[in-house]
Amino acid sequence: MGLVVQKYGGSSVADAEGVKRVAQRIVATRKDGHDVVVVVSAMGDSTDELIDLAQQVSPLPPGRELDMLLTAGERISMALLAMAIANLGFEARSFTGSQAGVITDSVHGKARIIDVTPGRIRTALEAGAVAIVAGFQGVSQDTKDITTLGRGGSDTTAVALAASLGAQVCEVYTDVDGVFTADPRIVRSARRIPQISYEEMLEMAASGAKVLHLRCVEYARRYGMAIHVRSSFSTLPGTYVTDLDEEEAADMEQPIIAGVAHDRSEAKITVVGVPDKVGEAATIFQALADAQINLDMIVQNVSSATTRRTDISFTLPTEAGGRALAALDRVQAAVGYRSLQYDDQIGKVSLVGAGMRTHPGVSARFFTALADAGVNVELISTSEIRISVVVRGSDVDDAVAAVHSAFGLDSADVEAVVYGGSGR
Ligand code: ADP
Ligand code: ASP
Ligand code: MG
Repeated sequence: MGLVVQKYGGSSVADAEGVKRVAQRIVATRKDGHDVVVVVSAMGDSTDELIDLAQQVSPLPPGRELDMLLTAGERISMALLAMAIANLGFEARSFTGSQAGVITDSVHGKARIIDVTPGRIRTALEAGAVAIVAGFQGVSQDTKDITTLGRGGSDTTAVALAASLGAQVCEVYTDVDGVFTADPRIVRSARRIPQISYEEMLEMAASGAKVLHLRCVEYARRYGMAIHVRSSFSTLPGTYVTDLDEEEAADMEQPIIAGVAHDRSEAKITVVGVPDKVGEAATIFQALADAQINLDMIVQNVSSATTRRTDISFTLPTEAGGRALAALDRVQAAVGYRSLQYDDQIGKVSLVGAGMRTHPGVSARFFTALADAGVNVELISTSEIRISVVVRGSDVDDAVAAVHSAFGLDSADVEAVVYGGSGR
């Protein structure tokens, strides 16, 4: 009997009843003879509530203190879960990320795990205890300060621990029955995907399918760790994120399209009237890079023959909008652009599928579906296995549903169930 790492998301431990229900599941796994390491998120929407609270005392809280505050959410749920397990007659010991040996860099709010040294977890397991670890947090190697891994980061804690401890599988328990062909909150006829490759899951996660944190999928691929995504509210089979071996792949007809993802967390900036000269784009993007801003889509229009000026648009996380505008302001004189436009009422819709590489006509069908649904496309970007468009935020639901149907992804029978969570 091997070691299993189980991660329970905030919606699974939203209240005392949830904590007790999860404790039962953990004990059942323990009774099956497995060693169990559990990673737990903060209860319900409590991370959002802590952020709201911080905003009320300071519009720009220092990163160190914000991380200190947010990690408290996971400390509450880890201790409660350990108590609930003890109440069922099994030993459980809770650990903060730092105690569990999750070592990170020192970038507050989006720290990267650089090492995992789970000595205390091993000791707990050897003593026959269930180890409970607070997700989404670590300790900086340099500053020794407490860090967080970014929103949704508990998934990454789970995979990192699973890889470091050599677990059989990393189970991610959430409020839906696995990874679906679209967010079940938007498309009730979405289908469960029984198995998805790391590559496709990476694109889905990067495109906004928040069921798994992007870094956790990167980590799992690097270490070949299988992730089993399933509901903590049901016993349905869920989704395996893993690559098929050659024999399995030959037996199974892989669909052309894995699914449709959407993302409402980005904003769009247009730099208007950029002189058409060598080096202008370099100056603009260097200023944004210096401000530590991650850009997503970038589009430059052809310059007008009369003015010899062009517009450059790009998308970025909404929370970085203010910093980006300030950084661009500082280079206005050097670049000589005319003005800036900021728009946070946008959404991104992406179609993901490894079959795009070899099947022509995917783009045509995608854009026809959007046109038939009356959705205007503002920006387009592609990778080898993804097409993404920026549309009005109010068009996102219609666009997702239209594209989902156009690729025949709707399921005829079972409706996708959402068991909990607020979708926040
Ligand atoms: P947890 O609290 O368990 O970490 P999250 O809210 O982070 O849960 O992730 C689960 C949510 O992800 C689901 O409730 C669902 O609304 C959303 N989601 C988005 N895209 C997908 C998808 N393709 N398949 C399943 N869930 C998705
Ligand atoms: N509690 C953190 C968040 O809400 C981490 C997580 O849930 O994975 O983002
Ligand atoms: Mg999550």
